[in-house]
Parts: sequence; structure tokens; C-alpha cells
Amino acid sequence: MDSKTNNNPDLRALPKIDEFLQLAESERINVDAPHALRRAAARQMVEELRREITGGKSVDLSKNALLARWVNTVRARREHSLSRVVNATGVVLHTGLGRAPLPEAAVAAMVQASQACALEIERESGERGHRDSVIAKLLRELLGVGDGTAVNNNAAATMLAVNTFALGKEVIISRGELVEIGGSYRMPAVVERGGAKLVEVGTTNRTRAKDYQSAIGPGTGLIMKVHTSNYRVAGFTEDASLPELVAVARKAGVPIVHDLGSGLLTKTLAPALADEPTVADSVAAGPDVTLFSGDKLLGGPQAGIIAGAPGAVAAIRGNPMFRAMRLDKTILAALEQTLRLFLEGDAAHTVPALERLNLTIGVLVSRAEALAEKLQKSAPALDVVTEESFSEAGSGSAPTIGLRTCCVGISMKGVPAAELARKLRLSRPAVFTRVREDRVWLDPRTLGAGDEDRILESLRNM
Ligand SMILES: *Cc1c(COP(=O)(O)O)cnc(C)c1O
Repeated sequence: MDSKTNNNPDLRALPKIDEFLQLAESERINVDAPHALRRAAARQMVEELRREITGGKSVDLSKNALLARWVNTVRARREHSLSRVVNATGVVLHTGLGRAPLPEAAVAAMVQASQACALEIERESGERGHRDSVIAKLLRELLGVGDGTAVNNNAAATMLAVNTFALGKEVIISRGELVEIGGSYRMPAVVERGGAKLVEVGTTNRTRAKDYQSAIGPGTGLIMKVHTSNYRVAGFTEDASLPELVAVARKAGVPIVHDLGSGLLTKTLAPALADEPTVADSVAAGPDVTLFSGDKLLGGPQAGIIAGAPGAVAAIRGNPMFRAMRLDKTILAALEQTLRLFLEGDAAHTVPALERLNLTIGVLVSRAEALAEKLQKSAPALDVVTEESFSEAGSGSAPTIGLRTCCVGISMKGVPAAELARKLRLSRPAVFTRVREDRVWLDPRTLGAGDEDRILESLRNM
């Protein structure tokens, strides 16, 4: 240490860990935490203070300030990193915020499955069973497919399909469908790592059934049609429809897989998403398997659903990599329960993701006005307005469709909007918003039960 820091009176006034813990004890500060954690929090606090002092920041080292800061540090260390936050962004399936909010019944099923459960055992015989047999039964009933299963996510399902049908062979995909879902998940790389060779057909904007037909040869393992989830090719375009491609594949005796991505089961479940293809249409066209995510428009847990012909699904199940991508029992329970909600016929209301997508502008205007009034009442320092704008489905679903909504805009004198948004993210409970035109915007579309009160609490704790 140099003489300058040694001479800093604030540094010399920093508390000693043991003395501070004794002080907290004698002041009867009630933090419900084991000793090791109390000590670690004290050490962390002193370290942070030291950094702030040497960084030239003025710090409050009074007894009360230190005790309050320590209590907050203990709480922060105890808090689960995935504790509940408020999604006020207006993006219904927000990947950064965990995509689909699970149906209540699915959460209850996860809790049940968290203890001992009959995961892989036949109750009748007591013999070993299959963990996906109930999912298969539900998919058969729901979609009219011959068989079905589910793996960790749709990325896993795609890789597994490529690897099962085209290991050492060629996969034919349209140039217009070589999607990047995000990060390193790009279709050409997935095909390559799946052990196959990509054969691109057509052009970026136009691909015809004939292009696939002429690309088929002795080395062909699979034809794959990929839903361009997060973008649209517009203008002078043409693409081969799934039924056309199924005909081409059948004639050549080549398997065909449809990677649908977002997984809206039927149009009537979300009428606002007009151009979103459905699982029902995909399955009706008859590819060997249709693949889709569990946590996009199905509104369930993260999973990759594989539904289709019995022989094709059995081949995928028989791939040694299947085991490496299988679902955990709690996720299986949530997925099973989500599928049951669709079978029960009221999913547009009981599955929160769908319920939120279907909220009408009339309902959203009155919710925005009610929220605005509450905010103004509880925080008079805020400037509160409401304004119509657009929400999004998110997660690459219906990327060009804006859903009409009404948002609450807040601003605070002397606090830039980005700073206000940051304070709300760091407060407890954390609130995630959007910033536009120097205001922070809260979209009632993505709020769940109790979230309005959480926002008020967050503002109080900010
Ligand atoms: C989202 C998506 C994927 C990846 O699905 P995850 O469930 O996120 O792994 C793959 N393909 C398409 C077409 C998608 O839209």
C-alpha cells in the first residue's frame, strides 16, 4: 500500500470483520442467515467499500448506514438468481426473461414431480417403462399423429433429426431457409455438426419444388423445410409448400422433416398471428416428423417436440444421442400438463402466453389506465402518461406482426429514462421495461396476476 491510501481516513475507518459481526449481533439485527453467509456478506461489503473509497467515491461509514448496507448484502447473497421478475416489456415470449410464463397447472405438476414419481415404471406390472409414453399418447390424441416424443429443445430435436436420417449423407434445404436463430445456432452449422452435408437449393428469394427434385441423388439422406421464424422474405418470392415437398420426398423415397419452430397448434388459438404456420397444417401435410419448441407458442416449458410417423419417431428414439437430450422429470410433468390444457379445449385462456397474445386493445386500454392511476397515486413524483403502441409475440414468432396495445409511460424529473429503467431492473422485485422517447414504458399485455403490485413495490424500493 502506498502512503496516500494509508493516509486516507476513510480506509482506516473501515470496520474489521469480526468487530462488525459482533456489533450486528449486539444490535440484534435480524437477518435470517447462517453465520458463514453473514461473514461472507460483511467481507464483501468491506471490499466494495474499499474499492469505492480508492475510486474516489464518498461513502457513508456511520453505524446505521453500514448495518443497512450489510443487511442488503446478506439479502442479495441469499436471493435466487432466477427469482421472479416483472416482464413489462410487451414481448410475450421474451427469451431473456425465460420465454413462456408457465400455466399454473403446469407449475403444480412440476412440484408434484419434484419428489418420487412414476417416471419410468409401469404401475400395472411394476416393470421398467418409458418416460415419454404419456407425452406420446397426448401428442397422438392432440395432433392425430402416429407417435411423438420430446427432447431438451427444438435445437436438439433438429440436430437429432439430421443425425438420425442423414448421418454421412446430404440434407437438402432451401437457400431462403438457412436461418440463424441466435448466437451460434445457424442451420448450416447444425447440419454439419449433425454429421451431414448441406445441399442448398434455389435462391434466397425463390425456391421451387423442382429445385429439390433435381438435387435428389444417391447421397440424399433428408429433405428439410425450415420455418423462417424470425424473418420474412418479402417481395418477388416463391417457396415450395410443405405438401408439394412431401410429394417430392415420397416419390424419391427420401425422408422429410419440417422444422416449424414456434409451434402454434391451430390458427384459432391466436387469431392475431395471421401468417404464423400451424402444427395442425404441418402434420396434415404428412412429413415424417414435425419439430417445434415447447416454450414458444405452445406456452409450456423449454422442450423440443417431435411428432409424426411411428417409424420415424422410433428411429429418432433409437438414436444414441436421444438419451443425451432427454427431458428432466419436472419438465416432462410441465409439458404433459400443458398438452392436457390443449386437450381440455380452453388453452386460449388457461395458457398464459396465449391468453396474453389474445388480449384485445379495449382490455389493454383499461388496464393501462388503471395502472397509470395507481402509479400516479403511489408515486406523485412520477410523470405518468398512457399511449397506444405495439407489443410483440417474441422468440422469433410472427416477427412482422405488431399487436395493438396501450402502454403506461413514466418519467422522473432529473432522472434520464435509461437510468430509471436501470433502477427498476436492479430494484426488488426487478421490473423489465422498454425505453423510448425519454420515457420508461410498461406494457400491461405481459403483466401477470400480482405484477401491478410488484411494480409499485419495486418503485418504493428503488
Ligand atoms: C426457435 C427455433 C429453433 C430453436 O428452438 P429452441 O426450442 O429455442 O431450441 C429452431 N428452429 C426454428 C425454426 C425455430 O424457430
